[in-house]
Amino acid sequence: MSLVLYDTWSRSVRPFSPIQPGHVGMYCCGPTVYDHAHIGNLRTYVFEDVLRRALELNGYAVRHVVNITDVGHLTSDADEGEDKMEKGSRRTGESAWALAARYTGAFMDDWRALNLLPPTVWCRATDHIAEQIDFVAAIERAGYTYATSDGVYFDTSKQDDYGFLARLDRAGLQAGKRVALGEKRSATDFALWKFSPPGARRQMEWDSPWGRGFPGWHIECSAMSARHLGVWFDIHCGGEDHVAVHHSNEIAQTAAAHGTRLANFWMHGHFLTMDAAKMSKSSGDFVRLATLRERNVDPLAYRYLCLTAHYRSKLRFDWDALDAAQTALNRLRHLYVAWPAGGTAEPAFVERFETQINDDLNLPRALAVLWALVKSGLPPAVLKATVDRFDAVLGLGLREWQRPEQALPEDLRLLLAERDEARAQKDWAKADAIREQLLARGWQVADGKSR
Ligand code: AMP
Ligand code: ZN
Repeated sequence: MSLVLYDTWSRSVRPFSPIQPGHVGMYCCGPTVYDHAHIGNLRTYVFEDVLRRALELNGYAVRHVVNITDVGHLTSDADEGEDKMEKGSRRTGESAWALAARYTGAFMDDWRALNLLPPTVWCRATDHIAEQIDFVAAIERAGYTYATSDGVYFDTSKQDDYGFLARLDRAGLQAGKRVALGEKRSATDFALWKFSPPGARRQMEWDSPWGRGFPGWHIECSAMSARHLGVWFDIHCGGEDHVAVHHSNEIAQTAAAHGTRLANFWMHGHFLTMDAAKMSKSSGDFVRLATLRERNVDPLAYRYLCLTAHYRSKLRFDWDALDAAQTALNRLRHLYVAWPAGGTAEPAFVERFETQINDDLNLPRALAVLWALVKSGLPPAVLKATVDRFDAVLGLGLREWQRPEQALPEDLRLLLAERDEARAQKDWAKADAIREQLLARGWQVADGKSR
């Protein structure tokens, strides 16, 4: 079965075919680096990683571009409030630049922990200021801009199909927002360039033909995707929250400057939900990978959990489901390492698996094929070779995994055995002392169920 994907633009599942044979250009909106990513953000990147792996499974060479938003994302999507970076900088006392560097590093650590493939290009908004200014100038030349006292805005009334991606009710929005419009002409208009506040110096600001200031949030993605993929490429991804504002605005910008709708396919991952406070970066109290690790949950168990739900349905987070994912992953790992190498993959199972992947990434069904294979009674070497093929898409890192006792250096293994003996003798003081010794060497002993 050839690959079909759901396209938000056409609101339909349609066959994927690339613009240039054999190649796929894919742009994914990345993090705003004023804080750690929460596990909701990370669900979207897991979906995008599986998409990329599915494209590679189908033989495409994928050029995968992910941006880092390190300027311009205001606390409100309606161009009001403060720049999240400048606000974050006040929170931590670091410069906005140091804050961006630190959280970009933390984000890359999360990326690796989830076994996400490195993108072909990481691009930072602050490294592409000239491209963004040129892009705004092109939109201006095409006649789609106007200036207010605080910036240069995109005039959405000039575009008949503005908001088509989201099937926006423009008249309804306008009626609802009339009072709060300020100098904006329409509720859907958005900033392309914001001026630094008069008399104040921002940490991040640049000269432009319109005055000193900084780019609006949406322009970076039009400008950087144009630079790294061209103005018409295959797939643009992000979380479902981006449909109504951010992606609608990216499309408006690129259509005004270059006459394309930017990407041939628009794909959106649905949200991981949790009670509101825990899932919002701005509340400061949210679940991230470090929170999972504190509870002895492996980040790859979270990846497994993400695979149990289709990317186009919401996933409600709860700790029991995560424990179940950890148990399933551990079981798979222990089976996998015990199987001998040297077999060949079983074609019927490979076909069943790939059929599910190619059906708009039906990962829950693909996992069901995996467990059916495990129970099939096929020779262990065949199981291993077949699971290897599956894991190229699932990305659970089975080949790299080692039994904890194998990964443990010999002297620590002896210490652990001594501790087990102490526990058996109910010599808790000795067991605790050895636990401390192991901890000092960076190994945490988990006696509970989620080992
Ligand atoms: P941000 O760092 O806020 O710009 O968001 C980074 C990515 O995470 C974007 O693609 C968002 O659409 C996505 N995202 C935000 N919240 C969630 C959530 N609860 N579940 C899944 N994806 C999310
Ligand atoms: Zn974007």
